[in-house]
Amino acid sequence: DAAVRMTGITISFPGVKALDGVDLVLRRGEVHALMGENGAGKSTLIKALTGVYRVDSGGIQVDGRELRFDDPSQAQAAGISTVYQEVNLCTNLTVAENVMLGHEVRRGPFVDWRATRREARRYLQRLHLDIDPRSPLAAHSIAVQQLCAIARALVVDARVLILDEPTSSLDKAEVAELFRVVRTLRDAGVAILFVSHFLEQVYALSDRMTVLRNGRFVGEFRTADLSRRDLISHMVGRSGEALAG
Ligand code: ADP
Ligand code: MG
Ligand code: MG
Repeated sequence: DAAVRMTGITISFPGVKALDGVDLVLRRGEVHALMGENGAGKSTLIKALTGVYRVDSGGIQVDGRELRFDDPSQAQAAGISTVYQEVNLCTNLTVAENVMLGHEVRRGPFVDWRATRREARRYLQRLHLDIDPRSPLAAHSIAVQQLCAIARALVVDARVLILDEPTSSLDKAEVAELFRVVRTLRDAGVAILFVSHFLEQVYALSDRMTVLRNGRFVGEFRTADLSRRDLISHMVGRSGEALAG
């Protein structure tokens, strides 16, 4: 039931092997955390999946089909949406325009703006987000802007949603709201990849995790089966106890 299966992914930059034979499986209806210390290769793996980087070797299957992404638009067309730490929306447009940008990419330019606003409102309502579609995006907090970016994933009917440290600038209530929306998408069958430095958030949200260390695959674990101490020792490659002590 894998939405994405990456196998043996290897990517080198001059002087550094960023990824060396890494596997990643993202399943429908699950939140999958990608864990590893700074420099472990998390962002590089995400960029391979989103078509930003080409792989030197290894395979990427989406819905069981072997794909090769030469640029990000191809990954997007395959149903892979990404929300970055920095908001990747147009703050000079309205909420509706931003949410429906995904629609435009997929189904061509809008003609009827009133219908577009209505449709944006429907998508926001599906996520129980009480945001006025006519308001300028710039009038809202970063948290609301992130939620609009996630709503856009729904508009493009994303099979895979990648959240790369989406909570870095959010307060506690905003994180709770973001998690609620992520769980709604998860329960709708979206495969979600979650990258966060906050162990508490990873344990609260993820069903499984993949751990990387120095560009290598350490293992895949069910979150409920992995103690924080063991996770840390997998990440750093020595006893988590020693690290804590
Ligand atoms: P993480 O996201 O886990 O912190 P990265 O994927 O950013 O790790 O980096 C993995 C390794 O690849 C690091 O050694 C990093 O310096 C290197 N790296 C990442 N991107 C580039 C790049 N564009 N050019 C050269 N080296 C890179
Ligand atoms: Mg980093
Ligand atoms: Mg990174």
